[in-house]
Amino acid sequence: MDKGYMGKILMVDLTAGDIKEEIVPDDVYEKYLSGMGLAASLLYNRIPADADPLGPDNILGFVSGLLTGTGSLFAGRWMVVGKSPLTGGWGDANCGGNFSPAIKRCGYDGIFFRGISDKPVYLHIKNGKARLRDASHIWGMDTVEAERMLLEETAGNARVALIGPSGEKISLISGISNDRGRMAARSGLGAVMGSKMLKALVLEGAKRISVHNREEIKKLSRKCNKWVQFQPPFIPGSMTSYVGALMRVMPTVLAQDGMLYKILLRKWGTVSMNQMSVEMGDAPIKNWKGNNTDFGRKKSISTNPGVFTDCEMIKYHCYSCPLGCGGICSMTGKYNETHKPEYETVLALGGLCMNEDVDSLFELNETLNRAGMDTISAGATAAFAIECYEEGILTKEDTDGIELTWGNSSAIIALIDKMINREGIGDILADGSKIAARKLGKGSERFTVHAGGQELAMHDGRNDPGFALHYSVEPAPGRHTIGSGLYYEMFQLWKKVKGLPKVGPLYFKGTKYVVNEEKAVIGAACSKFINVLNGAGLCLFGSFLGSKRIPTFDWLNAATGWNKTPEEYMEIGERVQTLRQAFNIKHGIEPKDFKISDRAAGRPPLSGGANKGRAVDVDTMIEGYWGQFGWDIRTGKPGAECMERLGI
Ligand code: SF4
Repeated sequence: MDKGYMGKILMVDLTAGDIKEEIVPDDVYEKYLSGMGLAASLLYNRIPADADPLGPDNILGFVSGLLTGTGSLFAGRWMVVGKSPLTGGWGDANCGGNFSPAIKRCGYDGIFFRGISDKPVYLHIKNGKARLRDASHIWGMDTVEAERMLLEETAGNARVALIGPSGEKISLISGISNDRGRMAARSGLGAVMGSKMLKALVLEGAKRISVHNREEIKKLSRKCNKWVQFQPPFIPGSMTSYVGALMRVMPTVLAQDGMLYKILLRKWGTVSMNQMSVEMGDAPIKNWKGNNTDFGRKKSISTNPGVFTDCEMIKYHCYSCPLGCGGICSMTGKYNETHKPEYETVLALGGLCMNEDVDSLFELNETLNRAGMDTISAGATAAFAIECYEEGILTKEDTDGIELTWGNSSAIIALIDKMINREGIGDILADGSKIAARKLGKGSERFTVHAGGQELAMHDGRNDPGFALHYSVEPAPGRHTIGSGLYYEMFQLWKKVKGLPKVGPLYFKGTKYVVNEEKAVIGAACSKFINVLNGAGLCLFGSFLGSKRIPTFDWLNAATGWNKTPEEYMEIGERVQTLRQAFNIKHGIEPKDFKISDRAAGRPPLSGGANKGRAVDVDTMIEGYWGQFGWDIRTGKPGAECMERLGI
């Protein structure tokens, strides 16, 4: 097998204690790639339509990418997949770190679990032997402590993915961690792992990952790395808010070359955007009802990028990443160190809750990583609860005395602790804002901001309507990692894929809000391309370098020997998207129910700030997008003809 993939999966039945290898035929990889595409091809057929996401019939998979371990750069992403207990449909979450190559070095492209164990267990693979081992002694431990203990016990170079107390307590906004707190956070799949009584996967393998043409891969990687290493001096972090303010007042948009974002990422990481996004209207404020003037420079300055790099002890690189946007930071208080908080975490627990206390953001980051709870959903649910408190739906009695007011950082910390422990009001909030609103009643539903039950990420569709579209049409909804107008500009796919529209260097801001066929083509292209990235195991941030600088398609050809065109790879992406949508239809999802909450679409519009008066025509955008895939534009269902055309 000299094609980059391993050609095998491991299937573990936790009820029976059976562990079996399965050979995956070559044509599956040619049709779906590896990673998420491979997982979609398996789970579509194997999870029954009526499966309870927390029951034995759900299958939870951990998959690596086709390019992982091949010498390609940015190829260290792993994905967890399964039926989401949060949305009821397709669930996936994506993470960096060092776990992805460990899956392949054990000889597999994916490790899948069905059934439910009668006691806490972990899967240990060593020297080609897979065994289920007792995990009673680490059940209840946080992710950092449990990982440390597992590494001590195995005394090898193991890589570990695991859940914390949040997943064990079946919080529907819990994720799965590796490398001391890097999280595959979305879709609530930590709860699926908890429901299966599976604490961890501990992988030790040394299998060779063979490729068609390693020299060619190396040559391509060297060329790509030159772009990554280009790093001119840059402005201080405290100045970034002015850049955002400038972008807000300009009547035109300068199309972004992703090289600029690469420079920001390399210098600061994703926190580079903390203040810039607030100022330009990209970051939602005060549970999406506020604006940049509510969380202006005087408040947001405490989260300027320099604050995070000042306490960065060491830069953090995921496997095979030459960029290294992460970092390990020192902190004071309950813990000594934490992964550098990400933009999403800072804004969800910061601006969305009007919290300017940066020490609390470090503490919340580490607390949630250790609990294994999604920081986006946790922050958004806290913001929802604060608004409920403001409106009198929640009282001090309900919160056990917590004064749940905007920006009250100690109250937010206390609330999050309750959510992790499922204690009092925290028990109601631990499954996210949509379910909490159903339990609270009293009209609280109008303060939820989500898509299909999943809280939206910290990018405002009223600033870039592409986010509103992708939050609404993704089979795993509410995700910021799929597409937007900005992402399309940075991907520069038109330079490689025939027939895609080119974005000019400068355009009027108003054109962002025009809904037309070109926008639908762009939206569909982003989704297809992301499925290629997720099949390859590549990092989204690497792809922002632009299609001419990061050789995604060429790496795939060099690894596999397939010699496919970029258009053929995009068709694979289309097939995977259609299959994931078909998974949702099979499981009773009405795709229109995934449309974002009205507030996030500007209904009613904001009366001030960067996004003043803006509303997004999400319905028309959704229909245009579905049309690009050949799905029914009224229902979002892929018909038999469409499935046949794609060979599904
Ligand atoms: S750019 Fe950041 S998230 Fe992406 S692979 Fe590198 S370190 Fe990981």
